[in-house]
Amino acid sequence: MRVTFLGTGSTRDPRRRCAATLVTLPDGTHVLIDTGGGNEVLLSLEAAGADVTRIRAIILTHQHLDHAAGLPFVLFQLAMATVRGQVVGQVDVCAPAPAVAGLRAACETFFPGLQNPWWLADRVRWHGCDPGDYLWRLEARDDGTNVVIPDPAVRAGQEIPDGVVAVIETMAVSHGAPPVPAQSVRIDARHADGPTRRLVVSGDTGPNLNMSRFAAGADLLVHEAVEADALGANPLLVLGSGHATAAIAGMVATVARARRLALHHLNARTGEHPEIVRAEASAHFAGEVLVPNDLDVIDV
Ligand SMILES: [Zn+2]
Repeated sequence: MRVTFLGTGSTRDPRRRCAATLVTLPDGTHVLIDTGGGNEVLLSLEAAGADVTRIRAIILTHQHLDHAAGLPFVLFQLAMATVRGQVVGQVDVCAPAPAVAGLRAACETFFPGLQNPWWLADRVRWHGCDPGDYLWRLEARDDGTNVVIPDPAVRAGQEIPDGVVAVIETMAVSHGAPPVPAQSVRIDARHADGPTRRLVVSGDTGPNLNMSRFAAGADLLVHEAVEADALGANPLLVLGSGHATAAIAGMVATVARARRLALHHLNARTGEHPEIVRAEASAHFAGEVLVPNDLDVIDV
């Protein structure tokens, strides 16, 4: 499993692209986690050498513009690929349930007719992670199909069923002031050369005990680190905005027994001082702490 950081910044970092992470599964297909804030996601996908027609799922952690506003651009690219005669398979789009209708309407507003028969037709399936359901689960199968699992509560450990290349799960969390529904993402992928690998991407969320359970045993935890105490973060303001500091990310990684931690969603100050963010997380986590730049790649 390969992680390409298409954007490691946020609304408040003019030097980094907004949040978007491309996950390449062992079969070469992609899961796109967040879509950045605009067409910069297309520039990043091209720079990363990614074929948009190989995206099988798009997971939006929440509706904020630095995570979701690039979605119409990605869907437009897929529509253009169909017009060029390229094969575009089923794409499953999952967002927090209360945000789905608005996101879908926004895509239709920016690109009227997006799901007309001659564009994307029924290739895009929309799903909502319901905060009351706790988990939402999609199985990415070897034959290229995706299957939504109706009862995600029942699953033992990191076992992956036969015929499945990866299990993609989301967990409802809360973020923002005013709060918006959000979700974290976990991907367990089957590798031919060894055991299952686990990737967890926090999305935007403040301290959350469920996060440590959800991220348990992660080979790589990608966590937001919007501020650092050493940079003068006001903890009340940070936590009140539903974000996490680098120190919190380090604590979550420790409790989850994660192997490696990557910090992203940097703002202008943290982006300028990645060494401070890394040191602060390292004070709470003994494993390797990475602060990737846009377009950096990590193999999980
Ligand atoms: Zn954000």
